[in-house]
Amino acid sequence: MRRQTNGRYYVKIILLGPPGAGKGTQAQFLKDRYNIPQISTGEILRAEIKAQSELGKKLKAIVDSGALVSDDIIIEIVQKKIQSPECKNGFLFDGFPRTLPQAEAVKTADIKIDHVIEITVPDTEIVKRMSGRRVHLASGRTYHVDHNPPKKSGIDDVSGEPLVQREDDKEETVKKRLDVYHQQTKPLVEYYEKWSKTADAKAPKYHRVSGVGEISTITEALVKALG
Ligand code: AMP
Repeated sequence: MRRQTNGRYYVKIILLGPPGAGKGTQAQFLKDRYNIPQISTGEILRAEIKAQSELGKKLKAIVDSGALVSDDIIIEIVQKKIQSPECKNGFLFDGFPRTLPQAEAVKTADIKIDHVIEITVPDTEIVKRMSGRRVHLASGRTYHVDHNPPKKSGIDDVSGEPLVQREDDKEETVKKRLDVYHQQTKPLVEYYEKWSKTADAKAPKYHRVSGVGEISTITEALVKALG
């Protein structure tokens, strides 16, 4: 992998996987390791909701229900974001694309993704996991009460502020989000895997990594996959 003079790597990565697979947690490591910006559409939407804008109010109802926000809105958000100079040579998509039209939009915009990494976790494990997830709202840092606890229970390590449970991490909503994942996002697995096997020079490399086990072991597997 090539490094730019400013220390950032030239690499464009998509992290794929069900909600609760650990994409956000792993994205934090990869972002630091490769010195690339993390583009998390979930985070961007939560920031908009927090700002209580007109758009934010509409988004809140959708996100809290566990459904997906419309492709038009998401594609516009991402287009704006990747125009920033810091995203020019590399970035990490976390939670985007989530539908075939979103993936097609990336392709049409001629953005060459180097790697797609799918993090796999069985549904039963996800439901267990998400009930223990806690988040620091201002930064988006995530923890798990058992697997990745903060130094002090209920408190963010960096800011010392309280952690909360996201509305959409509650059990019923998690089940709905898993249904949405299987129907709308899972087809991307086949989409990218098939494309990676073609002779197309623009095709990303496809990697599948188990998201069950120690967080550091999973990070190692991701780094190895990226070469
Ligand atoms: P996340 O933090 O990635 O789990 O996203 C939280 C919620 O934001 C999802 O359940 C969706 O309602 C919405 N969302 C995030 N990213 C997308 C996307 N790429 N397309 C549609 N909706 C999204």
